[in-house]
Amino acid sequence: MSDKIQVAVVGAGPAGSTAAEVAARLGAEVMLIDAKAEIGTPVQCGGFLPEAHELRALLPKAMLPAALADVPARYVLHRTKIQRLYSPSGSCKEFAVDGRVIDRRAFDRHLAHLAARAGARICPATRARAGLESIELSGHLRGAIRPEVIIAADGPHSGFSRLMGNSVGERGICLEYEMVDVDIDSSAAEMYFGTRYAPGGYAWIIPLGPDSANVGIGVRASYLGREKLPQILDRFIWDHPIAGEKLKRGEVLAVMRGTVPAGGMPESIRQGNVLLAGDSAGQVLATSGGGIPLAMVAGRVAGETAAGFLQGRASLEEYELNIEREFGEELGRSVHIRKLVDLAMKSDRMMDAIFAALLPEHMKMIMRAQLPDALCRVRDLMQGSRLR
Ligand SMILES: Cc1cc2nc3c(=O)[nH]c(=O)nc-3n(C[C@H](O)[C@H](O)[C@H](O)COP(=O)(O)OP(=O)(O)OC[C@H]3O[C@@H](n4cnc5c(N)ncnc54)[C@H](O)[C@@H]3O)c2cc1C
Repeated sequence: MSDKIQVAVVGAGPAGSTAAEVAARLGAEVMLIDAKAEIGTPVQCGGFLPEAHELRALLPKAMLPAALADVPARYVLHRTKIQRLYSPSGSCKEFAVDGRVIDRRAFDRHLAHLAARAGARICPATRARAGLESIELSGHLRGAIRPEVIIAADGPHSGFSRLMGNSVGERGICLEYEMVDVDIDSSAAEMYFGTRYAPGGYAWIIPLGPDSANVGIGVRASYLGREKLPQILDRFIWDHPIAGEKLKRGEVLAVMRGTVPAGGMPESIRQGNVLLAGDSAGQVLATSGGGIPLAMVAGRVAGETAAGFLQGRASLEEYELNIEREFGEELGRSVHIRKLVDLAMKSDRMMDAIFAALLPEHMKMIMRAQLPDALCRVRDLMQGSRLR
């Protein structure tokens, strides 16, 4: 193996595979490296992905990669029409959102396949130890490589981000069950709030079909106290007055754990020849925890920037500017809204009051990281108009 590589992409999730595909398609020599023996496995995701027209409304300035806009039907397990939110006391607001529920395992393999087809070399079962100029590989491939550009798409616990000196941002910790034989409304993706079932976060039911669903909780460690995630998720499934009726007769087929960045981008997403993309760069909408769309847009931008740099058309510094232009505003606003809602999440009464004050269309705006006037009014009430 030659140690001279043009682009090494670490991580074959949605960010890394998209970056590898784009850079290779633009003529770069690319290695796509993942520690997983089988790309896409194990899955750590609910699989919810808004339809392309919803994503265009969510990220109006971003150019969506084709693989994000047009997911082939064979990777779409199910489609939903509604997003439904429950307050701690059980009142409900819903609005129309066209959603796809994708088979993440197959989707990640598909994205890596697209990268391979574009000419990238795929290296599974290979762990990359972060260095700012060289990377030490161990596992199936061994040795040191010195890429001209490193795209670090190595997920929420990124070694490259740590090496760059970034602090560990706010995170949600998640536990999810794939359940069957449940009695759900399969047209709706549901979110449930309340300190008893999802402290500092929310619980979800994402339908996978008429009687199967991904059921999970994403909470923040600082809100957890002594309880462990399985205790809380089991309580949601067994005891929640509304969700319990849908779930408690079901069976669990799979258990998944994972971490979701919730604090936006770190101090730096580029240093020297290293570009961070996706979860490694905190590129997750903090209002929903949805990370696939931003990861793929950032992967596209990273791949284009790397190829442009190698062809002498662009500098790597442009990466930050390009990311900022495509979705910086929406990501920043989602973190702002999350911080605001954080204050309310400490008290079920406060959350109930906010639910009561907001119309369904306001909720939809919030999920799209837009700040409706109604939420500004709630914020002003809560904070004595200090923040506006
Ligand atoms: C429980 C849960 C449910 C979620 N549900 C949704 C959802 O419904 N919709 C949504 O949009 N988002 C969801 N997310 C978030 C979404 O999964 C992530 O935002 C998305 O996967 C980010 O993609 P990525 O490519 O940046 O990182 P990842 O998908 O995490 O990929 C990173 C890759 O890097 C590899 N890697 C890490 N370190 C190394 C190393 N040193 N060497 C080699 N390889 C390495 C890993 O093996 C991994 O394959 C969920 C997250 C969790 C935890």
